[in-house]
Amino acid sequence: MSDCIFCKIVAGEIPSYRLMEDEDMLAFMDIGPIRPGHALLIPKKHYERTVDMPGEEVARLMTHLPRLARAVVEATGADGYNVFQMNGACAGQVVPHVHFHIIPRHNGDGIKFGWPAARYGEGEMEKLGEKIRSRLL
Ligand code: AMP
Ligand code: ZN
Repeated sequence: MSDCIFCKIVAGEIPSYRLMEDEDMLAFMDIGPIRPGHALLIPKKHYERTVDMPGEEVARLMTHLPRLARAVVEATGADGYNVFQMNGACAGQVVPHVHFHIIPRHNGDGIKFGWPAARYGEGEMEKLGEKIRSRLL
């Protein structure tokens, strides 16, 4: 897509610090890191959301995740890492080209991601679960 910043990175039209790539995927350093070493893994082909991708392409992209996460963790001496992937502005997606964030984490690093867990009312989970199941085509 011509006005997509990540497509421009793929094409080499704007600079990035590339970590690894093949025909279909690219990993590069995030310029606004939540923690140093924050990396992004993207498909080279433009898709806005993971639901837009054929499952096989998601699976192929994910085969690269352990290798990248391992390298990020080893290079930063991290104790763990987060993998995030946002779909839609309501979910915090700013760049509308599928990307997986790999964020190294250290014990006591003080980063807090909101996780406002709620509770279902009586029967609500089953009702919604059934609605979701009926749409699993
Ligand atoms: P998201 O909110 O999931 O859409 O995250 C977009 C991410 O892309 C943010 O973490 C940005 O720091 C990162 N980002 C935006 N522009 C660039 C760029 N030119 N090079 C590297 N990372 C970028
Ligand atoms: Zn794109």
